[in-house]
Amino acid sequence: MIYRNLSSYFRSLVAGADTKIPIANGKYVTAINFDNAATTPPLCSVLKEIACFAPWYASVHRGKGYKSILTSERYDHGREVVKQFVKADKHDVVVFTKNTTESINMLAYALATDDKQQVVLSTDMEHLANDLPWRDKFTIDYVAITSSGRLSLENLALKLQTYEGRVKLVTVTGASNVTGYINPIHTIARLAHKYGAKIFVDGAQWVPHTPVDMKPYDSPEHIDYLTFSAHKMYAPFGAGVLIGAKETFEQAIPVYQGGGAVGLVSQQTIEWDSPPAKYEAGTPNMMGVLALITAIETLSRLNIGDIHNYERKLIDYAIGGLSTIPGITLYSTRDRDEERVSLVSFSLEGMHHSQVAEILSQEAGIAVRNGLFCAHPYVEKLLNLSEKEISHYQTQNDKTIPGLVRISFGIYNNLREIEGFLDLLSHVAKHRQ
Ligand code: PLP
Repeated sequence: MIYRNLSSYFRSLVAGADTKIPIANGKYVTAINFDNAATTPPLCSVLKEIACFAPWYASVHRGKGYKSILTSERYDHGREVVKQFVKADKHDVVVFTKNTTESINMLAYALATDDKQQVVLSTDMEHLANDLPWRDKFTIDYVAITSSGRLSLENLALKLQTYEGRVKLVTVTGASNVTGYINPIHTIARLAHKYGAKIFVDGAQWVPHTPVDMKPYDSPEHIDYLTFSAHKMYAPFGAGVLIGAKETFEQAIPVYQGGGAVGLVSQQTIEWDSPPAKYEAGTPNMMGVLALITAIETLSRLNIGDIHNYERKLIDYAIGGLSTIPGITLYSTRDRDEERVSLVSFSLEGMHHSQVAEILSQEAGIAVRNGLFCAHPYVEKLLNLSEKEISHYQTQNDKTIPGLVRISFGIYNNLREIEGFLDLLSHVAKHRQ
């Protein structure tokens, strides 16, 4: 009973949760969106706030007009909302960015020096956003995964020891966008700090689904840098954040340069503004930030711990159901004690991932994601693909490249939707050639 009340309450908060869409036979069905790890639909509170604030919208940090002052106050207050949400240290700064990818690129530029001997330890389970930006600026190495796809802490410790103080940064995802595993971030932070490295956490799949605590600077478990994207937490207007120590941003030259990031400039000299302004050149995305902070306020009010528990019920139910369907391989443990967010990937023997996704969409209006989820090395390892096989597939089209099918839930999904999905998938599995 409690579940049902919570479920329908959560559903009522999200715009378009009951939208009807056409499917293959010309019928209309209620869309089922199991692709929330890619992007979530907007919260109604976000849409309302955007509409209410629109008449007051003006340029941020430009001029003394009433609307500009109001807009600037709202924008800067947003930094405090973000910091409270993830329990950042009071000395941290919040830079508003476009998304996680932009944040990581900006941080990689900020941390890069001429010393290419410095090591960044990434991992085998990263999204490309937390892999490619580090490659050309540092010596990069990857912490291995175990046979079940989890991060190997033994391997992390070994690599930290082997590089003998050369590791500048351990860069790791909070939660995987492929397996849904949540990494033991505070244990990783403790290890990284022990060896004099800092830790950066890609929070794109982590922050929207579980309580996050960056912890104060004097804690050995402190998270030095964190990023996440608004569009994965019900605020689809193009904002993201990068959080970290002011000192980092004070020392480096920003990748984007222009108005808003500087004090007084002559043709010979630049006086940089202090961070975060130094990292926000150009007119900021005020409405995106407003959407993000409204979403954060709504999720905080709902209690992110309760959201996690609710979504946990959904994913446990889905994993339980999937594991009984003949021909399904799950790319995650079935362990109920596993720390995970609300997503899982699978394959169906004898069917290409794109075929499974198409059938789900066309037969029942169920949106899933298929492919490599921009985490190519991780999926390649989960599928045991050799470098030779990968280079063969590099010349193939999308219909032959291997991959997986992923389902990912948001607060508005429910057990009934998952039941429908499992029924259809069982039917497909039974009748496949
Ligand atoms: N990191 C992870 C774990 C992701 O899942 C994603 C997007 O799916 C990204 C980074 C990139 O996020 P964005 O596209 O918002 O920059």
